[in-house]
Amino acid sequence: MPDNLQPRNRPDPDLISPRILPHQAAAAKALRRARSRMMVCFWTLPLYMLAIWMLLTNRRETDAIMFVYMGVWAGFALDMARRRCPLCKKQFYVKHVLMNLRARRCVHCGFDSHSVAEAVDRDGVTQ
Ligand SMILES: [Zn+2]
Repeated sequence: MPDNLQPRNRPDPDLISPRILPHQAAAAKALRRARSRMMVCFWTLPLYMLAIWMLLTNRRETDAIMFVYMGVWAGFALDMARRRCPLCKKQFYVKHVLMNLRARRCVHCGFDSHSVAEAVDRDGVTQ
């Protein structure tokens, strides 16, 4: 008889915890979304610079694209900076003044928003 007494695909106990409350799961998803938006802005910066360069070489106006792009940057950066950790209630990405774009964990208490959000997406803990 095969040893199938142990359940297979058992989730990592660090990822799935009965302590993940619905508001923490929602906050984790929002934190991950805010960081993803900011990273999209960051990685499209070369495209923006290329577009500005092409407009300038064709002697076209660059004001509109500059205002729109910088507005999107500022909006997403403010959204990311104002996000608070569901555990310690401090700013998730801001330790002192500067924002940590690479942080996947709370810079204060270490709450891992990505693991929680992935666990919720995978297992549907909430909703
Ligand atoms: Zn925290």
